[in-house]
Amino acid sequence: MSRRRESSLPEQDCIFCKIVSGEAAANVVNRTDGFVAIQDINPKADVHLLVIPEHHIETFRDVSQLEADEAKRMLDFVAETARKAGLEEYRLMVFVGPGAGQTVFHLHVHVLGGQLHGMPR
Ligand code: AMP
Ligand code: ZN
Repeated sequence: MSRRRESSLPEQDCIFCKIVSGEAAANVVNRTDGFVAIQDINPKADVHLLVIPEHHIETFRDVSQLEADEAKRMLDFVAETARKAGLEEYRLMVFVGPGAGQTVFHLHVHVLGGQLHGMPR
């Protein structure tokens, strides 16, 4: 699917687009139509998952680009992913912009369970 984007980074260079399409490897822990959940490659908690929509949206700031149905399904998928990982208590985090610590410019939600490893709390 091709979509117009604002940034200079071509979508084909986006690591999360590659992971969602299966072009790049990842430890996939959950998947549904339009969304995938993977283990973070550099975990900052006992359980550190990333929920990634197939839809390439650079930051949460642009979340209105998700369809209403897509946004609701993403939230449901976050909760389902945490439940399937055996988490009852957990943190959800989204970093919005480089100054806030965002390093991958494809919308994702961090799911952090158990003890955090050196993260601000
Ligand atoms: P953020 O700082 O919110 O942009 O988070 C990006 C997260 O993606 C970081 O926690 C990275 O460790 C993680 N990450 C980057 N590349 C990969 C990858 N190829 N597979 C899994 N996790 C990744
Ligand atoms: Zn992407």
